Amino acid sequence: MTTRFIFMLIALFSIQGCYFQTTTESEITEHKIGEHKLVIAHRGASGYLPEHSLAAKAMAYGSGVDYIEQDVVMTKDDKLVVLHDHYLHRVTDVMTVFPERYRLVDGNKHWFAIDFTLSEIKQLKMTEGFKLDPKSNTLIPNYPNRFPLFKSSFSVSTLEEEIELIQGLNHSTGKNIGLYLEIKAPWFHRHEGKDISKAALTVLKNYGYSNRQDKVFIQCFDPIETKRIHDQLMADIGVDFKLIQLIAQNDWNETMIYQQGTAVPYDYDWMLKPGGMAKIAEYADGVGPWKPMIISEDSTSDNLIISDLVKDAHAAGMKVHPYTFRNDPFLVPAYADNFEDMLDIFFYKVGVDGVFTDYPDLAVNFVRKKESR
Ligand code: CA
Repeated sequence: MTTRFIFMLIALFSIQGCYFQTTTESEITEHKIGEHKLVIAHRGASGYLPEHSLAAKAMAYGSGVDYIEQDVVMTKDDKLVVLHDHYLHRVTDVMTVFPERYRLVDGNKHWFAIDFTLSEIKQLKMTEGFKLDPKSNTLIPNYPNRFPLFKSSFSVSTLEEEIELIQGLNHSTGKNIGLYLEIKAPWFHRHEGKDISKAALTVLKNYGYSNRQDKVFIQCFDPIETKRIHDQLMADIGVDFKLIQLIAQNDWNETMIYQQGTAVPYDYDWMLKPGGMAKIAEYADGVGPWKPMIISEDSTSDNLIISDLVKDAHAAGMKVHPYTFRNDPFLVPAYADNFEDMLDIFFYKVGVDGVFTDYPDLAVNFVRKKESR
């Protein structure tokens, strides 16, 4: 081993060693020449067009993203549709088209996708997310500055339709934009007698995706399911994809466990404790945490409170792709000056490897600017 090589090794380790200390210009340079930072279009270009519409996916594609996200749920007739929720009433007119087809959940009406056939779901108009105000009986948009409710024409698409859009654009542009597919609520589908993960992986295989060189990530909030996909299902189907373990707050009820017939929230706490990342690394290639799990919302611009999550995940050989980077009013945390500053902090001070964003054009422009420097 030459002296020069040893010196290079020492230099390399000392840079990695100070990952979480006060950021210096040389560290920023080090991050810059590292791996390309990924921009993942969260539900498409959902800041501009209704989430998961094919239009939002096409706009995201045109922005030059690396990956486009699909959230996948199952219909009554076992088709896979691209929807964020396993119910239909936040983004469609199901309440007026099928007023009686709901189930009561804690006294609230829920129109579940799994209770409708694909041809019924295709009759619905899709729009931006909204809430029904029971007092005034009017629809309140979740994001008032985004695309207006029920304007133009959008519908729920199948996973196949979305893959064909992205593969078609890959053909016509010569690019290779990837899929970032989330298996939604596998616990719920299993309880309803459906194996959503098996169905989703089979569709991917049918469309020619099969191994880790293909631009595909599979993400899931349910660790039991992510582990099952890793340990058993991928081998059964004959595929091998990169897996991302999403991390939720327990009180979101994102993942439920049935105990004596009652669904109780899965306890995610172990993931954020020392040793948690190493345990996840036994079955996943990366994690998708909520932004505040990395940088505390109590942070200020001159005092960032940064958790060990990214450091520990990297030490375990995993990637970190936090969610969700939004440019809407009041959704840039107080410790960042603006959307770009927020990206700068996460990518180049904390060192995350990719971000889920509703504003893919802004994130792509930012990364290009930094990486061409
Ligand atoms: Ca998702």
